[in-house]
Parts: sequence; C-alpha cells; structure tokens
Amino acid sequence: MADIIQLLPDSIANQIAAGEVIQRPASVVKELLENAVDAGSTKVLLIIKDAGKTLIQVTDNGCGMSEIDARMSFERHATSKIRKAEDLFLIRTMGFRGEALASIAAVAQVEMKTRQKKNDLGLSIHIQDSKIQKQEPCQFAPGTSIAVKNLFYNVPARRNFLKSNPVELRHILDEFQRVALANADVHFIVNRDGEEIFHLPPGNLRQRIVGLLGTSSNKKLIPVEEDTDVIRIKGYVAKPEFSKKSRGDQYFFVNNRFIRSGYLHHAIMSAYDELLQRDTYPLYILFLEIDPARIDINVHPTKQEIKFEDERLVYNYLKVAVRHALGQHHAMPSLDFDQETSFNLPAMGRFQNSSSGNTTPAGNYNADKQSNSFERFPPQLDQRNQSNLENWEKMYEGLGNDPTAGSDQEEGKPLTLESSWSDESPTGTSEAGIQEQKAPVQIHRTYILNQIKSGFLLIDQQAAHERILYEQYLDILSAQSGVSQNQLFSKTIDLVPADADILRSILPEVNQLGFDIQDFGKNTFVVNGIPAELAGKKDELELIHHLMDQFKKGLEIKLDIQDNIARSMAKSAAVKRGQVLDVSEMRMLIDKLFACAIPYKSPSGRNCLHTFELNELAKLFDS
Ligand code: ADP
Ligand code: MG
Repeated sequence: MADIIQLLPDSIANQIAAGEVIQRPASVVKELLENAVDAGSTKVLLIIKDAGKTLIQVTDNGCGMSEIDARMSFERHATSKIRKAEDLFLIRTMGFRGEALASIAAVAQVEMKTRQKKNDLGLSIHIQDSKIQKQEPCQFAPGTSIAVKNLFYNVPARRNFLKSNPVELRHILDEFQRVALANADVHFIVNRDGEEIFHLPPGNLRQRIVGLLGTSSNKKLIPVEEDTDVIRIKGYVAKPEFSKKSRGDQYFFVNNRFIRSGYLHHAIMSAYDELLQRDTYPLYILFLEIDPARIDINVHPTKQEIKFEDERLVYNYLKVAVRHALGQHHAMPSLDFDQETSFNLPAMGRFQNSSSGNTTPAGNYNADKQSNSFERFPPQLDQRNQSNLENWEKMYEGLGNDPTAGSDQEEGKPLTLESSWSDESPTGTSEAGIQEQKAPVQIHRTYILNQIKSGFLLIDQQAAHERILYEQYLDILSAQSGVSQNQLFSKTIDLVPADADILRSILPEVNQLGFDIQDFGKNTFVVNGIPAELAGKKDELELIHHLMDQFKKGLEIKLDIQDNIARSMAKSAAVKRGQVLDVSEMRMLIDKLFACAIPYKSPSGRNCLHTFELNELAKLFDS
C-alpha cells in the first residue's frame, strides 16, 4: 500500500494554527493593538467596519518595519521580541510568539503600510492566502498601518459562526478597553462605521478609566497602592456601594498584560468581604508588577492565563492591598499590612468550600459558579419531574386549590409558622387540621411551604417567579402582542457605548414588553414608560441597568435574542429572596407556577421547588 501521510500545505497549516489565535474579529483587534503598543507608539487609531467583519484597521506612529522585516512579519514564528528560550522568562512586551500576523494573513486579506523614520518612503504590501500579492513603495507617515479585510473570507464555517454585530462589537470593545487601560499614556482613537466612539488622549490611569467608563466612574474609585519586595500593586477598586450584579468590570494586569484569574478574583472578593451585597461584584482595575522570572505567561496561546511561582503569596498581598485601600477610605476598619500577611494564607480548601454562609466571599464565589448552570439550559427534565408535571393537578386534589379553600381571615395576612404548625402531626386527619394548613406559609422570606395531598411542597419564591415571568415574557415576544404600560415623567439614561449598542439592538423587543424607551442618539435613551406590573416596584433606571447586565450575561452564553430578553427581564423583575409575600400573593405564585410549561426549573436552571412525600417524612421519624 502506498504511503498516505503527507505534510499539510503551508496555507492550510496556517489556517489551522490561526484557529487558535484568531477566533473572532476581537482577536485581530487585540493582536494589532498590542503590536502597535509594542512598537512604541504614542498614538493609535482603530477603525472598525461592520463589527470587524469587513474591516479592522490599526494605524500607529511606532517604530515601523524595514522592508525585510515587513515581509518576514507574516511568517509563522517570526518575532523580533524573543531570541532564545530563556528570553521567555524575561518578556515585557505583549506579543512574543510571532504567530499573530501569520495567523491573520491565513484567514483574511491584509494590507500593510509601514515606514521607519529614517526612510523617506514607506512600503505597501498586500497579502492574501498567506502570500504576498503585491509590494510597492508608498508615501506614508512613520509608523505602521495594518488593514484586515473580510476576516474568514476563506473559512466559511468560521465566518458563519460569527455572532451578530452587537455581540462581536462587544468583544472588540472589551479587548480595546483592556489595551487602553494598560496603556493610559497612549492616545487612542476608535472609529466605528464612520463615527468616532472613543477619543482618549494620553493621561494617567484615573483619566483613562473615566474616559472609558464614563465620568460617573470618577467618584467611585479608590486608589490601591502597595509595594513589597516581591510585588507591586497599584490601580483602583470601586467603593463597595457601586458593585454590580454582573461581572465585566474586573481587570487584572500582570506586568501590564491582561489576565483572568478566578483565584485572584477571589482574593479581591474576600477583601471586600461583608461590604458587598450578595451576588454583586465590585469594579476593580489592578496592576501587578512582578519579576517576570516568577511567572509563566506561556501557558495559553491567547496569553490570558498565567502561572505564578507562589500563587498564595500573590493572593494574600492582593487581598491585603485592597483591604488597606478600602480601610483608608473608611469603607472598613484598616488592617495592618505586615500583620495581615503573616497569617491566614488561604488554603485551597477554603476556596472550594461551598457550605459557608451566603454572604461570605466563598458564597459569592459559588454564586458565580452557579451561574454557569445557565449553560445546562434547557434542563433535561428527569423522569420523575416529567410525570410530576403531568400529575401536578392531582397533587392538589381536595386541597388548597379549590375556590372554597382558606377562610377569609387567612386571606391577606401572612401566617406565622406557629399558627400553621401548632398542633397537628403531618399525617393529621382532622378537618380543622387540614383547613389550617392549607394556606401557604412563607419561611425566612425566601421559601413558600405548601401542603399537598401526598405531603408538602417547598418553593423557592425567586426561582419560581423568574420561571413565571420568563414564560409570560416569551409568550408576549413570540405573539407580538402588546402589554399595558405605565407612563412616567420621562427620564434619560446614559449608557457606555457598547451597552448603548446592545440596548439599541433590542429596543423593539424591550418596548414590546411594556417599556417605552426612545433612542436619543449617541449613548442616551429616554424612558417614557415601563411595564405596568413593574410600576413603583423598582427604580426604572436601575431596572434597565439590571436588564442590560443580565442580557450581557446571556450574550456570553450565546442565547437567542428573545430568550435572552425574556430571561433577563424575568431576572430583573422577579420578587427577590427576602421579600415578604402575603397569602394571596403566595397562592397566585403557586397557581401561576403550575400553569407554566416547565414549573420545575427557573430559566437559569435553578430548582423552583422540591416535593416532600409523607412516606419519606414518616421514614425520617421511624427508628
Ligand atoms: P509577535 O508580536 O508575537 O512578535 P506578531 O505576529 O504579532 O508576533 O508580529 C510579528 C512581528 O512583526 C513583531 O515581532 C514585530 O517585529 C513586527 N510588527 C508587527 N506589528 C508591528 C507594528 N505595528 N509596528 C512595528 N512592528 C510590528
Ligand atoms: Mg504581536
């Protein structure tokens, strides 16, 4: 039999390798911006068309390239930033693998212009399918401009896989934000489809944060600054009261490189400790400077993960630095830096501990992990649930669901535990006993306990209400029907550009649910009305911010738009744990829950209820 193993042609090998580095337009933006910064530029212009699908162009005033370097730069593993393996540990520049330009050239049409200061003329190069198509001298200011056109034009599967423009733009702006934060001394301009959406003159970090996140962020920032032999930490954290329900404004930079680290995030969360409300995340933008020999950044091709020689030490320094900063700003009693480092090194065990109280940082961390259960949606109903679903009406046979159930006095006033559990045993059969226990009872302002024929139900009020609203909103959205609305004195709301884009793209659906929001151009919206059922329950603007935060989470897990909106609205509008419900409200909730298509799970996959069967209960008490 003939030999069948062949080497892949270069162009295909490049395309395959490109998949690792270039996943979407935002990856191109990241690589080009980092190259521009690495080239020592003081001014960088980013131009985006069609969310980067048609054009991504970065123009800088950096060092430029010689003719040979310009041609070389598109070869795989061509880099000016590393010469030998040991250099890997001394890296200060952003790029070092020499993969980015080669990868980009494998999956897009690239036009580069570059000029070194010492030359009078620049060079223009056109590349397609990893091959130089054209090369000629050109007039050009010192620096480099790289235009990446029609990304993935030759990899249809990838191109089709790209998300909608708002989603891709969101990713692009995320990458831009990271580079812009890490280089506050560089002048950045972003032009999107002909409109200048960022103009950030060089400045200090605070000015850069404010330029990116809006003027309102200025008053939220608390400076962090700690210097030790091992590590230097500086940056800003936000005052606890400005923490948000969604993640997204958390940034770590290690030696000016953006990284993700659940472990270090936990250090910050534990520094805030009881200052944070449950399930909220503080804004932070922190720069760690550490001897490159003590870290390994070569663990992932996109270089967002990092290994520290002594992770626990970094954890603790970080925690203490943030505590210190919060303390100095009277957010909490200050702690002595040296003292704190000498004890309480976090054990991994604590990090993973899920049984601690809800308001502890560990609780927050787990709440965060819990949100991953989004990904399991739609939940596969297990066999038992499925048959429960069909039989739910039977559970109530002869009990509380009939109109005669519950005496008038019970109606409207919350029952206390004592009054409903005073005498009868669970199997009690006396008429009076059953009557008394029919009204649902709220427990810890969080759960609803309701007797059914075979035992009792325990319902999570928040999860249940989310399910009810979610199905209701989905109905409205798919039926294209309108809903009643409550008029307000108009209020305006300013969003950051990326959020504004998102809201603009979902405005028809949002308004269909009973909002009356108008786009006022730029990043301003006017809110004239909100859904009637939400009137007076929440601050309208807060509701919209919450809705946006939720929606963004949904984008990350690639939900369909209607589903995402219904889900975000449900999350924003549902009754929360801790809210007192009266008997009629509880009854309504139970009825509506069981009228749902899938009463057992909240839209984010949390259980809405558990059933406790009498025979199981009896077993608990058998000895
Ligand atoms: P890396 O950044 O990992 O070295 P890249 O593929 O991103 O790899 O770039 C290859 C080389 O091209 C760089 O090492 C650098 O010498 C050169 N280069 C890329 N972009 C620029 C730029 N904007 N200005 C000057 N040189 C550049
Ligand atoms: Mg690079």
